[in-house]
Amino acid sequence: MIVGIATLEYLEEGDIIYIDTNGSIHTLFRKNSHHNALFITDRCNSNCLMCSQPPKNVDDLTHFFNINTSLIPLIPKDTIELGITGGEPTLLGQRFITLLDQIKDELPNTDIHILTNGRSFAWKHIPQALSSINNERIVYGIPIYSDYYKQHDYIVQAKDAFNQTVLGLHNMAKFNHRLELRIVLHKESFKRLPQLAKYIYMNFPFVEHIAFMGLEYTGYTIANKDLLWMEPTEYSDELEDAVLYLNAMGMNVSIYNLQLCLLKPSLWQFAQRSISDWKQNYLKECESCTKTERCGGVFATSKKHSQLIQAIK
Ligand code: SF4
Repeated sequence: MIVGIATLEYLEEGDIIYIDTNGSIHTLFRKNSHHNALFITDRCNSNCLMCSQPPKNVDDLTHFFNINTSLIPLIPKDTIELGITGGEPTLLGQRFITLLDQIKDELPNTDIHILTNGRSFAWKHIPQALSSINNERIVYGIPIYSDYYKQHDYIVQAKDAFNQTVLGLHNMAKFNHRLELRIVLHKESFKRLPQLAKYIYMNFPFVEHIAFMGLEYTGYTIANKDLLWMEPTEYSDELEDAVLYLNAMGMNVSIYNLQLCLLKPSLWQFAQRSISDWKQNYLKECESCTKTERCGGVFATSKKHSQLIQAIK
């Protein structure tokens, strides 16, 4: 008997779902999406001011580990890309290695993108253990919000986080792990973007990609809106300075989650259609825009959008 389900039309042949003991249905994998991810835990050792999925103090590591180890063999072998996210995935400890080993065996041709705050990598045995997996398709996306330790620690609400992340990045580089840096743009991070760009070039020349990311107005951001929210056009000078500098230094830079109409034209070449398909939306203003094909639109999950979004004629 099926009750309480408005529609199943969003499901396609080949999608993978999980039916909980309470009867709720969770979609774990969508065959026609490039934005699938394994969810590891709601737990986190940071508590970022703008977290889109605020951490919960729950004992869920075994629950999600069991789901994920059952899911991985069911995922089609020709899957191009798979994310790993949380919470903080490395809190899974030794079972994180087990999971990545299983992924390498089951999905050897899939690119794996892991979102982590990188703090665990300050303990060298972890990067070392991860290198035993020997999977060159794994990239670790790690946030750094400032070149100044106090500011980074404040944004992630965790003492010593900056030092741990910086040390972690260097430890990961020593073991030749592939690394990406992620910088979320808001009122607390924008002022030092030019200094941060120089710091990145001087200290992390080994990272293969740097992503500057527009803010998703959801989760903690709503509660911290006065601290964080600003129109993207208000940080356009600092963003342009940082992006063009890193590009000139030969580093691979992208801008995620920002609409072309809010970016200086000098930055359009760096803008990616980065918003996951199930979160992507376009506004009424976009209907008459000539750049809709190139623009990634807005977060459907954001409770607020820029007032300055307007069609490019
Ligand atoms: S009007 Fe819409 S489609 Fe056009 S650039 Fe702005 S957000 Fe993108």
